Amino acid sequence: MSQVLACAKTNANLTVGAGDGPPGPSWRNVAIVAADWRAPLQPPSSTRAGYKIALIDKRAVYPEEFRVEKLGGQQVDILRRLGLLDAFAREACSFDTVLNIRRGKVVDVSRSLSYGLHYGPMVAIARRLIADPSSLIVDQVLNVTPSEGLQRLTLASGNQVAARLVILATGMAGAIPYSLGIKRRVIVERHSLAFGFTIAPADGTGFAFPP
Ligand SMILES: Cc1cc2nc3c(=O)[nH]c(=O)nc-3n(C[C@H](O)[C@H](O)[C@H](O)COP(=O)(O)OP(=O)(O)OC[C@H]3O[C@@H](n4cnc5c(N)ncnc54)[C@H](O)[C@@H]3O)c2cc1C
Repeated sequence: MSQVLACAKTNANLTVGAGDGPPGPSWRNVAIVAADWRAPLQPPSSTRAGYKIALIDKRAVYPEEFRVEKLGGQQVDILRRLGLLDAFAREACSFDTVLNIRRGKVVDVSRSLSYGLHYGPMVAIARRLIADPSSLIVDQVLNVTPSEGLQRLTLASGNQVAARLVILATGMAGAIPYSLGIKRRVIVERHSLAFGFTIAPADGTGFAFPP
């Protein structure tokens, strides 16, 4: 469901040394634009490989938004494999059954372990798990100037970051990909309709699961 675009005009190795460029920009091997809930997923392996990473996101705190109310299936397997699942599971409501109900009738029952939690807290947990917290830069990327060796990112603060590889994961914010000639191809328009509601037991007691 999420979208990641890599931007590099070179497939040369990602190594960049302190003396590789003029003073001014902050030099990194990889700049990842967006520090959403996947923020900790890339850096541990990249950090182990010795890469200097910049994770850049315009939001210091992710606002309350109605999306990603659950982690399930392959996401759970990947988080477990990376040793990150417990951190999310601790703050989530786990469930293992999903009922698909249509016109009052159960039409489908699927069973697999899932974790429900709101997107804002999920991003906050993810950011706490970033292997090197100093890699997080809260700033807006205004533009990316690609070149053969180094990609230069201009930030709203006026600072610059230069990196061998830029990974764009800006979600539906398409301005930067568009400016680089990357086009969005819509496969199905108005594909989904989502709504949410709060449920409470009629007798005023609590549920047998955490809220
Ligand atoms: C109603 C609803 C329900 C959903 N339910 C689920 C679910 O149950 N499970 C699931 O896995 N997914 C679900 N999704 C999908 C999920 O929301 C997305 O897959 C998820 O948000 C990841 O998207 P993303 O990383 O591409 O973009 P985003 O989450 O939007 O992240 C983009 C990030 O880029 C940053 N950014 C953008 N532009 C710039 C810039 N110029 N400079 C710096 N930073 C920038 C933003 O601040 C943001 O943090 C749901 C979506 C909706 C709408």
